[in-house]
Amino acid sequence: MRMIRTGPAGYPEGSRSPADAVRKVKAVGLSALEVQFVRNVLYNPARAEEARSEAKESGVLLSVHAPYYINLNSSSPETKEKSEEWILRAMRGAEAFGAWIVVVHAATYGEEEKSSTKNVIDSLTRVRDTADTESLKAVIGLETMGKKAAWGTVPEILEVMNEVPGVLPVVDFAHLQARGPPLSAERLQFLLGSLSEVPRLHCHLSGIEFTAAGERKHLRLGEGLDHKMVLDVLRDSGMEATVICESTSPMEDAQIIQRYVSQGI
Ligand SMILES: [Zn+2]
Repeated sequence: MRMIRTGPAGYPEGSRSPADAVRKVKAVGLSALEVQFVRNVLYNPARAEEARSEAKESGVLLSVHAPYYINLNSSSPETKEKSEEWILRAMRGAEAFGAWIVVVHAATYGEEEKSSTKNVIDSLTRVRDTADTESLKAVIGLETMGKKAAWGTVPEILEVMNEVPGVLPVVDFAHLQARGPPLSAERLQFLLGSLSEVPRLHCHLSGIEFTAAGERKHLRLGEGLDHKMVLDVLRDSGMEATVICESTSPMEDAQIIQRYVSQGI
């Protein structure tokens, strides 16, 4: 059976530095950490390097979450260009931290719903070209989005993966649940089956509150989504995976996930 890693989104409370955050994650038996660049991409290069070697030494797999402002389907060329630049900045950050994947909320449908996937493909092709020129190795991870107005269903993401190299899905189980139809074991098996070629599946897991329009907010693990069902299906899929906990208590809930995955309790 392949490995399922688990860890929190964001540094644990009281972390004195990024490297200290990695140590705190490791100390409680977790093996992944998502660095949050969700409001801005700011880091001290020396401290990033410290975190990079700490993570390597302790076997903690790092990922990065890009800023929320990205919309590759914007009708404004300026917003589109800024969005591409945000992804590149997050990828430079990922390079500094040695993070393997950059999680991206790619787009909203807006008035350009029909051409949205094509616009995402065009933008990410440009981003990948620039990234290659700069030798930025991070994979671009397209997140399954929870609001019905947001671009990012599994079939849409698969379309982009077929067109742009270095793109993988990020499966947010709470978002799948919020967007509907409700996440049954059968539906999840089908979705993961369509992603069986993915060498390492990056995932987000939390509780979720939602309305007819989809996601409202993330909650504690166990609220609004049967996380045990999700983890059972993920484990049974045999895929190598990372589960980042994005609940309102990411450290505590990541440990609950870890315990369930490793001991079944
Ligand atoms: Zn996200």
